[in-house]
Amino acid sequence: MRKSIATVSVSGTLAEKLTAISAAGFDGVEIFENDLLVSPLSPEEVRARAGDLGLGIDLYQPFRDFEAVPGDVLARNLRRAERKFELMERLGATLLLVCSSVSPDAVDDDELAAEQLRLLAERAAEHGIRIAYEALAWGRHVNEYLHAWRIVRMAGHPNLGTCLDSFHILSRGSDPIGIEAIPGDRVFFLQLADAPLLAMDVLQWSRHYRCFPGQGTFDLAGLVSHVLDTGYAGPLSLEVFNDGFRQAEAGRTALDAMRSLIALEEATAQRRAATPPIASPSTASPSIPRPVIPPPVIPSGFAFAELSVPGDDTSELGGLLAALGFVCTGTHAHKPVELWEQGEARILLNATGDGPALAAIGLESPDPAGSVRRAESLLSPVLPRHRAPRDARLDAIAAPDGTELFFCRTEHPDHSSWTDDFEPRAAGEPVAGGITHIDHVALTQPRHHFDEAALFYRTVLGLRPQESLEVPDPYGLLRSKAMSTGDGAVRMVLNINQVGAQHIPWQHIALACDDIVATARRLGAVHPELLLAVPTNYYDDLAARYDVPPELRELGLLYDRDEHGEFLHLYTITAGRVFFELVQRVGGYQGYGAANAPVRLAAQHARVGHAWEGDASQGHASRGHTSQGQRSSRMNATPVGPTVEPHDLAATRSRRR
Ligand code: MG
Ligand code: MG
Repeated sequence: MRKSIATVSVSGTLAEKLTAISAAGFDGVEIFENDLLVSPLSPEEVRARAGDLGLGIDLYQPFRDFEAVPGDVLARNLRRAERKFELMERLGATLLLVCSSVSPDAVDDDELAAEQLRLLAERAAEHGIRIAYEALAWGRHVNEYLHAWRIVRMAGHPNLGTCLDSFHILSRGSDPIGIEAIPGDRVFFLQLADAPLLAMDVLQWSRHYRCFPGQGTFDLAGLVSHVLDTGYAGPLSLEVFNDGFRQAEAGRTALDAMRSLIALEEATAQRRAATPPIASPSTASPSIPRPVIPPPVIPSGFAFAELSVPGDDTSELGGLLAALGFVCTGTHAHKPVELWEQGEARILLNATGDGPALAAIGLESPDPAGSVRRAESLLSPVLPRHRAPRDARLDAIAAPDGTELFFCRTEHPDHSSWTDDFEPRAAGEPVAGGITHIDHVALTQPRHHFDEAALFYRTVLGLRPQESLEVPDPYGLLRSKAMSTGDGAVRMVLNINQVGAQHIPWQHIALACDDIVATARRLGAVHPELLLAVPTNYYDDLAARYDVPPELRELGLLYDRDEHGEFLHLYTITAGRVFFELVQRVGGYQGYGAANAPVRLAAQHARVGHAWEGDASQGHASRGHTSQGQRSSRMNATPVGPTVEPHDLAATRSRRR
């Protein structure tokens, strides 16, 4: 189907918006009046620019507070409309959005509204313009889409139709099944926006929290399906007012928008395949979108996690891995990359980058080429690989935060394995670390890109999102969303710093243990300095809530439970942006210990300090913490922000020396 987007949905000047929208592959735009008013481009120039970019101007909007008014106001409103018609002729736009009135001048009189809209449609027709009348959810007298349609029908003018807007329909809880009563040729336009479920004033909800399809909670595939059942053949157009998108880079937002529409088309087609429309003589042959994008290839596990380390020194993270019981089993044939293994958990240390930071994730895919085709069809950048002729083929894409995702088949007979690129290394004395595999990976997302990342992992990898959680941080608030495959083989946690700009974008790799008590006991005995300290208050509270063994306190283990089972975990200190978590799921526990995340964040902040704390922070680290939690004095003088990477582990080591 034709795909459009309102210029208000992306940031920038009108010229920048048009460029970004075109680059993302849209067919058309809705010109939002304010974007034109503030533009130095004349309407003719905007028309030419859009034309050069291959964009049609599908709609001009909004025209407000027109209908059901006294005669003198009507005369004024018609004069105002004439000006807009002239402007639209210069723009080359032929469809005007008229929203239901919010004016105190308007009266509750459908016949009057219909009569005046008919007059408007007659005037519009003289300019070759059509009017799409939309019920705003907060319209004064008209706020339901079927009410707007009744008025349009009553007016009975061919140049007057209705505009359906998913936000206005679904935010009021209206049943979209009623859409099927509207003839498709009377639906002049379809605007789409999703939104998170929020209990707030609907106007504020609409103006600040709309998001792209698939990023909220509305059933947009169901709504679009009803619209297609009417025979509607116009564009799917995104109209999204969102505080984040207003600030984010336009090109990226436009791509995110297009990805959401491609995924919506796919979801709608699946919905319609599952429930074919009932053929009726009154229904024009409905256009069923048949997207040809390849199906998702669900990953079956983590193949590896790759950490970049600065310079060519892997000793720091290597030391941490060795303490956890990992063994360096191989070195890449011609790159400074080490392979560390324990059970099925594999960590690569790549000494060519910055960091330490998590640079890449290897995912086991039953069809690596299919995984890449899926990603490509959803506009994800496929990464070029610089590889030697003998290297294993590796298919990789970039996630929205820049993390590289590799699709692998590790040591599978039908597929070359990335592990073949590593020359085996004489292993030293192995330590029984008790680690079996990677349980989950947690990534902090860049500002304003949380919803984009969630949509990416859901659509590209087929991960199922869980509810968003808010996690208190001593200096802000984190938003966190876990996503996983149905079988839990791949689990990812996306975090974003919702409030408080100075949060460190920590990343962590959670390693599953088969006996975390034994692992914690060994680590505590040999390397207590590597474990993040947990305050005594935590255990006092835990003992009040649960009947847990006293050794949790002694070993510094955190505890959580849900209706399926129990969760035991602990954290290491950080190296750069990265730390490790050791976890043991007992029974069918589904969560990630989010209830304990505030304890971790407080302990981490206590170690690295804060730029604005000054000397007053001195007491912060010691209060309620053991000696392990002592802050690194080096960090006191360093401003902490997303670009600063506290070198916690190095500081610990230098203290020990
Ligand atoms: Mg709208
Ligand atoms: Mg975790």
